[in-house]
Amino acid sequence: MSKSVLLSGSTIGILGGGQLGQMLSMAASRLGFKTHVFEPSANPPASNVSSIFTQAEYDDYKALEQFSSSVDVVTYEFENIPTGALDIIERQCEIFPSREALKISQDRLLEKEFINKLGFKTANFYEVSTQEDLTHAIDQVGTPSILKTRRFGYDGKGQLKLESASQAEDIWKESSAKDLILEGFVNFSREFSVIGSRSKDGQISCFDPGENVHKEGILRTTTVPANLTVQQKTEAVLITAKILESLNYVGVIGIEFFLEKNSLVINEFAPRVHNSGHWTQNGCTVDQFEQHIRAITGWKLGNAERHSDIIMENLIGDDIYKTNKLVADGSLALHLYGKADVNPGRKMGHFNRIKK
Ligand code: AMP
Repeated sequence: MSKSVLLSGSTIGILGGGQLGQMLSMAASRLGFKTHVFEPSANPPASNVSSIFTQAEYDDYKALEQFSSSVDVVTYEFENIPTGALDIIERQCEIFPSREALKISQDRLLEKEFINKLGFKTANFYEVSTQEDLTHAIDQVGTPSILKTRRFGYDGKGQLKLESASQAEDIWKESSAKDLILEGFVNFSREFSVIGSRSKDGQISCFDPGENVHKEGILRTTTVPANLTVQQKTEAVLITAKILESLNYVGVIGIEFFLEKNSLVINEFAPRVHNSGHWTQNGCTVDQFEQHIRAITGWKLGNAERHSDIIMENLIGDDIYKTNKLVADGSLALHLYGKADVNPGRKMGHFNRIKK
C-alpha cells in the first residue's frame, strides 16, 4: 500500500458531530478505524459513537491544534466550517474533500459560476448586494424568483420567494443579509440527486440517482429508482463524474438536480455525505458513509450497485413521536440520531423501507 493509504487502526478526524458525523463514525468503526469528533455543542449524536470527542468552538485554535495532532486525516460533515479553523488543521494534516471544493460549495455565486463554466445548466442568477442590484436582478432574471443568501443557507433557510417585481422593496427590507443572489424559479417536474465518490487514485463511482421530495425546503423522502429515463440518469452520472474530476475530488459528493422539461438543471452540490444518500445504507452493499471513509483513507471504493428498491423517509421534529409505531413495523430499517431536543424542522432520524 502507498504512503497515502491509511491502515485500520488509524484515526479519522471529523469536524461536526451531527447525524452525518455519527453515521460516518459508525462506518469508520466497521472498517477498524478510530474517530475523533470535533464539535462546539454538548452531547451531539456523533459523540456516542466516536473514540474521542472534543467539545470546542471553531475559533479555539489550541483545541484545533490538539485535535489535528491526534488524527491521521480530517474530513467534515457540514460545509460551513470557518476558514481559520481549516488553516490551523492544514498545518498538521490533510483535509478531504479539498478546500477548493469546500470554498466553491460555501458560496452559491461561486458554485453556479463553476457549474456554468463546466458547461452545465443552473437556474438563471444575478448577484445582489444593494437594493438597486435587486431591481436590476429582477429585470434580468424575472419573476417568480428566489432571493437567497450566498453563504450559510441550508434546508431552505435564508430564502425569500418573489412573486412579482412590486415586492422588491418589502423583500429587501425583510432580508437581513446583504450578500445575496437572485435565482430564477425553476419550474421542475422532479428533483433528484446523485451521490458520487472519487478515490485518491481517481476511481469514480456513483450511486443510482434518487428522487427527492422537499417540503418547506427540507428533504422529506428519497425514492430509488428515480422516475427518470435511462438517458437522464446517464447524463446526471456523467455530470457528477465531470464535477468530481474537475475538482480532483476525494470523498463523497451530493449533487442536487432539477428536471425541467427534458433538461437537467443543477441546484447545488454538497462536498460531503448527503441526506438524500441515506437510502444506500439498506439498498447497497457499501453505503455512502463507508464509501466516503474508503475514499479519504486511500482505499479502493466499494460496490455502489443498488440491490433493492428503497424509500427513505426523514423523521422531522414531532415525527419522532411515531417511533413506537415504526419499531412495531419490523419490515423497515430505523436510524435514530439520539437527539434530546425536539424542534420543528429538526432532523431526528430516518427510516428506509425496502420495496423489493
Ligand atoms: P436549496 O437550499 O437551495 O437546496 O433549496 C431547498 C429547496 O427549495 C430545493 O430542494 C427546491 O425544492 C427549492 N428550490 C430552491 N431553489 C429553487 C429554484 N431556483 N427554483 C425552484 N425551486 C427551488
